[in-house]
Amino acid sequence: MFDSLIKQSIKALQAYHVPNAKGMLKLDAMENPYCLPAELQQQLAEALAVADINRYPDPASKELVATLKLAMEIPNEAEVLLGNGSDEIIQIIAMAVAEPDRLILAPEPSFSMYRMIALCVGMRYEGVPLDNDFGLNLSQMLQTIKEQKPAVVFIAYPNNPTGNLFDREDIKAIIEQSPGLVVVDEAYHAFADDSFMHELAHYPNLLVLRTVSKMGLAGLRLGLLAAHPQLIDAFNKVRLPYNINVLTQISAKFAFDHKHVFDRQTVQIKQDRALLFEALSGFSSLRVFPSKANFILFKTEPEKSEIIFAALKSDGILIKTLNKQAGLLTDCLRVTVGTPEENAKFLASLEKVLDRLKDSNGVKRQGVTQ
Ligand code: PMP
Repeated sequence: MFDSLIKQSIKALQAYHVPNAKGMLKLDAMENPYCLPAELQQQLAEALAVADINRYPDPASKELVATLKLAMEIPNEAEVLLGNGSDEIIQIIAMAVAEPDRLILAPEPSFSMYRMIALCVGMRYEGVPLDNDFGLNLSQMLQTIKEQKPAVVFIAYPNNPTGNLFDREDIKAIIEQSPGLVVVDEAYHAFADDSFMHELAHYPNLLVLRTVSKMGLAGLRLGLLAAHPQLIDAFNKVRLPYNINVLTQISAKFAFDHKHVFDRQTVQIKQDRALLFEALSGFSSLRVFPSKANFILFKTEPEKSEIIFAALKSDGILIKTLNKQAGLLTDCLRVTVGTPEENAKFLASLEKVLDRLKDSNGVKRQGVTQ
């Protein structure tokens, strides 16, 4: 009925799909599996109970910004903008630069919202394929930058869904040779042991994006952008006035005042990532990719990923299948690092289906030779 009203570029898009995970062991969305300790839950509840929910929140989130600037070691040269998730910040950046002939560029595969948001705001989008080991194809990136002069380049560091950190020097070359903005998206920073935050002082066209989603606060919806003050001033004109609600402001400040709790969880997740990587590498039919994030990507034998995904799902375990994205991601699955118990359940279920596939392969091979 409304077909003629909706922009052609929007009609061509698929909405970001979030599967129903009710009752499932949820290892699909890179969440931290741990809650706050009960004592801190109680203290947070008390702080939230007296929040002024009858009033609009502080539009500049001043207290929270001050806390985050310290906790994230944001250099004095940079200013900060908060978003309702880092998704919203990607949208704000795109809206601030959008002109129909302008380009957003990203390596591919990467976070799907770069493309989606570019098209939503009426910009052009181009993805430069990663190499077979998921490294940046630097010469092609630089060539495209030279020819097409993208308004914004997005680089996820570590990359989603591949989990690797790109070469730092490659990223520096991209920043140095870009006439436009380069956003280094550090959504998985907590697990990565590396950052571009301290490079902000050297590169005026560098923007560093963070989120609290992966470190244990996905429900709050809070992202942070650190960048040159002039850019932040411009983005603030695009940002809606009260985008960070009062409950998020209080909860996030509370969380960062107890950051050691989250840091401990991060250490645990990094240890469990190593164990999960080792266990997955033990399955001879899988190719497992090293990860500096809180998830691991692995490739199955040809045309087996959907069978494995479905078998895990029928065991109540939800991971992410990337097979349909084709190209480098054909036959690829992505699992989030959970608690040790969750990882053990996932591995047991995976072993069961891989054994079943091995048996049926054996039967098929026997059938051929007979
Ligand atoms: N950047 C990357 C690379 C991501 O993988 C994600 C979420 N999957 C986001 C940004 C968005 O995170 P959020 O909106 O929860 O802050």
